[in-house]
Amino acid sequence: MQITIDSPDATISCPVNLAAPRARMVVANWKMFGNLALCRESLPRLSAAAMDGVELVVCPPAPYLGEVGRLAVRSGVHYGAQDVAEVTHGARTGEWSADMLAELGCRYAIVGHSERRDRHRECNQTVAVKAAMCIAAGVIPIVCVGEMMSDRESGQTEAVLAEQLSAILRLMKKNAMFVLAYEPVWAIGTGLAATPAMAQDVHVFLRRQLGLFSPAWAESVTILYGGSVKADNAASLFAMPDIDGGLVGGASLNVDDLLTIYRAANI
Ligand code: PEP
Repeated sequence: MQITIDSPDATISCPVNLAAPRARMVVANWKMFGNLALCRESLPRLSAAAMDGVELVVCPPAPYLGEVGRLAVRSGVHYGAQDVAEVTHGARTGEWSADMLAELGCRYAIVGHSERRDRHRECNQTVAVKAAMCIAAGVIPIVCVGEMMSDRESGQTEAVLAEQLSAILRLMKKNAMFVLAYEPVWAIGTGLAATPAMAQDVHVFLRRQLGLFSPAWAESVTILYGGSVKADNAASLFAMPDIDGGLVGGASLNVDDLLTIYRAANI
């Protein structure tokens, strides 16, 4: 596979402020759902609810990014894409680059979602290159990692996560700004969320892995939990000390549910 990164120093263009407390956030991943009507119904309501202490991020399907961006102007709501190409430009029909997302005002891009790892055969290295592309363009990657149920049952959860993360860290400069999302594959879209204690254990493990790279940086990285976060389980998940918010799929399509989840992250 070809790795195209313009400069080996590209990843230091988006440094994190290590003195600031790590951001809490809720990210709505609409997947391939929604329409213009949902953009126009939800953005004004989300804007009205946006709080200083918790970032609210909407990741609609790419065709709606322009409309969401227009509706989000001066609103306190951020927006991002659900994926990005692993190169800066080229004959890549159906893809878009991190620079294009930056030009559209996207603050974030999700990379490595399990649905892309699975359906589009994205490997750890591809995900890592996509994350580096985002950082080089000034877009913050939300990097998804997570184990399958068979990994968990065979005691391989930590090994799988460590391997997914180490591919990212090999391409990452110290203090680069990124968001990590722990999304156990067995919990995504199944209604079967991890328990708060189970998720907290994994988040501690992930933060420890980041700490091997840079202890101060590890404390500054926002780690989200994703996988069947709903209005009725968000508060107990977000109460865990290492769970800094959520990446929310299905429940984010209902504005009332998303707002309940968002408010639950304000602790
Ligand atoms: C997701 O798509 O990232 C996700 C976590 O989906 P759901 O909340 O529907 O499980």
